[in-house]
Amino acid sequence: MLASVDVGTQSIDSYNTSAGVEVVEALRAQAEDLRGARVLHINATPYGGGVAEILRSQIPLLRDLGIQADWKLITGDEAFFRVTKTIHNGLQGASRELATTEQETYLTYSTRNAQLLEEPYDVIVVHDPQPLALLHFRGKNAARWIWRCHIDTSEPNPQVWGFLRPYLSDYDAAVFTLQDFVPPDCQVHRIEMIPPAIDPESPKNIEIAPEFARRLLRWIGVDVDRPLVTQVSRFDPWKDPLGVIESYRRVKQAIPKLQLALVGSMALDDPEGWDIYHQILEASRTDREIHIFTNLTGVGNIEVNAVQRLSQVVIQKSIREGFGLVISEALWKGTPVVAGRAGGIPMQMREGGGFLVASVEEAADRILWLLEHPEEARELGKRGRELVRRQFLLTRLIADELRLYASLLGV
Ligand code: UDP
Repeated sequence: MLASVDVGTQSIDSYNTSAGVEVVEALRAQAEDLRGARVLHINATPYGGGVAEILRSQIPLLRDLGIQADWKLITGDEAFFRVTKTIHNGLQGASRELATTEQETYLTYSTRNAQLLEEPYDVIVVHDPQPLALLHFRGKNAARWIWRCHIDTSEPNPQVWGFLRPYLSDYDAAVFTLQDFVPPDCQVHRIEMIPPAIDPESPKNIEIAPEFARRLLRWIGVDVDRPLVTQVSRFDPWKDPLGVIESYRRVKQAIPKLQLALVGSMALDDPEGWDIYHQILEASRTDREIHIFTNLTGVGNIEVNAVQRLSQVVIQKSIREGFGLVISEALWKGTPVVAGRAGGIPMQMREGGGFLVASVEEAADRILWLLEHPEEARELGKRGRELVRRQFLLTRLIADELRLYASLLGV
């Protein structure tokens, strides 16, 4: 059997305050038609990265709404995950092609994982490219299959996309974050746009008292009396951590007391993370005010919450970005953001929230401006939060997904 991820329990009623009573009631009513439906979500890692973040919150709520939801993981060794990272990068446009042996590795593990998927389901949601070929090797049976793509596949490497595309053809639906991300010749019968969302009740996003947040930051070594800018993301070249360091260095010339925190998690399915981590350590070796934190050194959800809350500016200097949950996470805490004009980022900042940038220079200028204009910065953060409340909370994501399940099942 595929390994299941054990998640806690949660009541949808807990979202009355953050999302609104009407939203919660509407969701309950909507879920009635799907009561008892067996829904499986499959991905490649139980922690690290946006997909795991969403599933950890979504599965307990689906269950509370009467749906028999499960979350399972495919398995693979480092060779497999190196291949799937190459596929991930290729789908986002990297020029590196897949060697024949890499294609074989992908297909061998896909076959093996397909054999491990035993139980029957009504709806199977496959996240991202790692488990994509499961349907082909398992056979559809009575289930409806959805491919949920979280990355920017607007201009994929033709060879990598050409390899994967045939494995998509039997899917009943494909879900993207933006219309622009639908790759060329995507022949899935039904294509939907559903942007991701954050969980306002998770330890990462709940309201915490400022003094508690300050104590957490002190414990991890941040000087809470000096200005702080932060980027929270996997150590990944598309997130441009070295560009963040460069931007920070420019701003520091004007504000010598400035500190930078780079918070990066290591995901099970991302072996590239370690290479980037060592590059970052090297680039920051001479500056004690650059803090590099990882989930492996005790910087987990609650610390991320505190860092996002107490930073004067959150940076997300992505070059390519599927959605970037970290944008909504920062805005939900009222913190202004300076972010790359990439993928799903602009949609989260279209009513304020901060600035979109396209270079190190621009990022540095905007960060400096926000640091020097705290009142305007607060106002931008506040407007950003309001958009997140209306459009990027988990309740909206679940409503969109339930609509799709119901439509595919014809209920
Ligand atoms: N994250 C975290 N700790 C880290 C780095 C990232 O908890 O050290 C979380 C972050 O808060 C967000 C998710 O991982 O919830 C990253 O999602 P996003 O959509 O921004 O990017 P992805 O990793 O999916 O490309």
